[in-house]
Amino acid sequence: MKTTCPCGSKLSHANCCEPLLLENKTAETAEQLMRSRYSAYSIGKVDYLISTTHPSTRHRFSRKEIEAWSKSNKWLKLEIIESLPTVVEFKAHYMQGIDPPKVHHERSTFVLDNGKWYYLDGIFRN
Ligand SMILES: [Zn+2]
Repeated sequence: MKTTCPCGSKLSHANCCEPLLLENKTAETAEQLMRSRYSAYSIGKVDYLISTTHPSTRHRFSRKEIEAWSKSNKWLKLEIIESLPTVVEFKAHYMQGIDPPKVHHERSTFVLDNGKWYYLDGIFRN
């Protein structure tokens, strides 16, 4: 199926985040991991969100909450504000029910551990 990737890269999903979500490929950069995590939120791939959170901070995130947050929102688009080697600042636009669109603005930190990128934590901005 040829669909555009939810992360907004303009590439097809199969040539962008899908191989990462299927764990056929690992992210090469923090931004690539961030994009794939946004795609995972938009399609409700909770396992991927957990497995790409670094083991040292994973306990802070509950599966139930990730799942609820992923599924109760309609993910509209991703906007990358700044992309550095270990930090990505982004705005994720989403809708909850019939409310006007909202923005989740976060500056996330990523860590490369044993050749694999992980989400470490983030600061919410508003
Ligand atoms: Zn993508």
